[in-house]
Amino acid sequence: MKPPLLVNAWHPLPAGYAPGGLSPALPGSQVLLESGCAAALAALVKSAGGEGRIVAVSGYRPHSEQLALWEEVLRDKGEAFTRRYVALPGCSEHETGLAIDLALDDGSEIDFIRPYFPYDGICAEFRAKAAEFGFIERYQAGKEPVTGIAAEPWHFRYVGAEHARRIAALGLALEEYVLQFNRRSPE
Ligand SMILES: [Zn+2]
Repeated sequence: MKPPLLVNAWHPLPAGYAPGGLSPALPGSQVLLESGCAAALAALVKSAGGEGRIVAVSGYRPHSEQLALWEEVLRDKGEAFTRRYVALPGCSEHETGLAIDLALDDGSEIDFIRPYFPYDGICAEFRAKAAEFGFIERYQAGKEPVTGIAAEPWHFRYVGAEHARRIAALGLALEEYVLQFNRRSPE
């Protein structure tokens, strides 16, 4: 088994990386994800009873879009905020097509950078089932020194069910898990 793809400030996307085929993140959504990831997300949302309540805010972003987003947030919110919440262009999981930002649609305006995705109700149901469908909550509180990104309750990463179950059970950040995985199964 291969380790999950690790993308962060210290591990840029492999040169020439291109995502697989893309599909709507959820039925009817304009947000795109790699097709297998999209199918898993739709099944997870359905299983959690979140259809029509949980919405896709941001999924696959081409490099040019990540670059434009970085520059826009930098201009509007300053460097400290940008470094906390927006990954460097070339180092964003959103460029892989395997990461999704979600919001609970409660009728209020959705914050594109920090969507509302609380820890109770239907979102708790979603988290409880996430690993079973291959997703992990990628940037958890307490793991900031390891991930380099502030806690983001809305950002989920698809790694497949087998990895996701192990990561959830071990309580590891993806960085920690990949390190451990590679130590145990050297190539
Ligand atoms: Zn995100």
